[in-house]
Amino acid sequence: MNKNDEFELDITDLSDEGTGIGKKDGFVYFVKDAVPGDHVLAAATKLKKNYGFARIVKVLRASPDRVQAPCLIARQCGGCQLQQMSYEAQLRFKEKKVYNNLLRIGEVPEDALKAVFEPIVGMENPFRYRNKAQFPVAEDKSGNIIMGFYAGRTHAVIPCEDCLLGAPENKLILETIRHFMLENHIRPYNEVTGKGLVRHVLIRKGFSSGELMVCLVINGEKLPQQEKLVEALCKLPFKNVSIKSISLSINTERTNVIMGRKIVNLYGPGYIEDTIGDVRFRISPLSFYQVNPVQTEKMYGAALEFADLHGTENIYDLYCGIGTISLFMSKKAKHVYGVEIVPDAIRDAKQNASINGITNADFSVGAAEEVLPAFYEAQKKKAVEAREKIDVISVDPPRKGCDEACLEAIVGIAPEKIVYVSCDSATLARDIKYLRAHGYDLKKVRPVDNFPETVHVETVALLHRI
Ligand code: SAH
Repeated sequence: MNKNDEFELDITDLSDEGTGIGKKDGFVYFVKDAVPGDHVLAAATKLKKNYGFARIVKVLRASPDRVQAPCLIARQCGGCQLQQMSYEAQLRFKEKKVYNNLLRIGEVPEDALKAVFEPIVGMENPFRYRNKAQFPVAEDKSGNIIMGFYAGRTHAVIPCEDCLLGAPENKLILETIRHFMLENHIRPYNEVTGKGLVRHVLIRKGFSSGELMVCLVINGEKLPQQEKLVEALCKLPFKNVSIKSISLSINTERTNVIMGRKIVNLYGPGYIEDTIGDVRFRISPLSFYQVNPVQTEKMYGAALEFADLHGTENIYDLYCGIGTISLFMSKKAKHVYGVEIVPDAIRDAKQNASINGITNADFSVGAAEEVLPAFYEAQKKKAVEAREKIDVISVDPPRKGCDEACLEAIVGIAPEKIVYVSCDSATLARDIKYLRAHGYDLKKVRPVDNFPETVHVETVALLHRI
């Protein structure tokens, strides 16, 4: 086989990154945009010692799971990896991925895993679910202003003002900003030259409140004629939603980081509000907030259900962000201690507790792998009161999972229950292996699809002390 050679291939599997996999003559090929069950004419693009990459020349026989991707730029854009697969098949793929990781990496015996593994919780409508979008602004070859998405793994902007995962209002907002820029001769930022003003547009929508936030990231301190933009945005004829906050984020650095730390408020209170379940959240441009509120409610619901609280429990909520899980749990617990590494998130968490009238949640800034071991040491020395016996520890770490020092402290503190919310089932499996080896039993696993059309999946797991 040589590069560009064409050959027929049966696609039999999907990699964790959503690439189709087929085998021919003992050689494994990774084929982008191919769906298991497809029979394709492929062309080799890159050959290694015992595997290679290929592209689809033609789908000769389509898999029953193949659908027409609803988005016209799904193949170029880096955002969605699974649009060419039916939603049912996407769910099966994600369920299998979590299951296999727990089996192989987590070494959970198959019988035990089968007994606790619940079906994945999917969405009724797997589009338009994102409450946040960040559109890079650029210039095309003819000098037109374009807004859209970076093509997979590059910084080339593909124009797209109506991403099908995002809110329908985004399109009109972007159009308005584009017209404003044209009329006022404001140029997009150019990553190569470092010149130009407007870098990104961040739009957030409170799905339950109907409040919209628009934040322009600019390479400068001021936006010329900014009052005209505020006026134009506020006049947009939306139904049931309205623009509540317009701001600038100042980012004059030559960097890939999207948001600048300094926020200049142009209109409104500087934040929008939204509710998940019956907890209200204040969201400012720089706060972290889960992007799929419909599924997040189901995910936090699972965490709460698994914790099975009776109002008497002391809880540690590690990696608590703006206090979402903590506040959800606080209503049914005695006390919740939230720990999070980002100071701004802790500031938001405290404010969120206060706007909800919650007084039994405390938040502190720190790394989970430092705060928890310190607490454990203090507990061992009886420096803390017996009332601080911890009944439940919940964790929701970033993709890299929990640090071993954190897991060590967890098993030392020995809470009756551990609720683990994970956005990467491989590191979840690694950590479950540790916890199972240190006195915990896996009791429940429920994957939740917070990111339809992409390969990502959340998982909520419950462990009990044996
Ligand atoms: N539970 C929250 C946030 C989950 S995202 C929610 O559902 O909204 C993971 C969080 O862990 C982020 O807020 C991140 O800032 C925080 N984080 C990352 N590393 C950390 C560490 N070592 N210790 C504590 N928090 C950390």
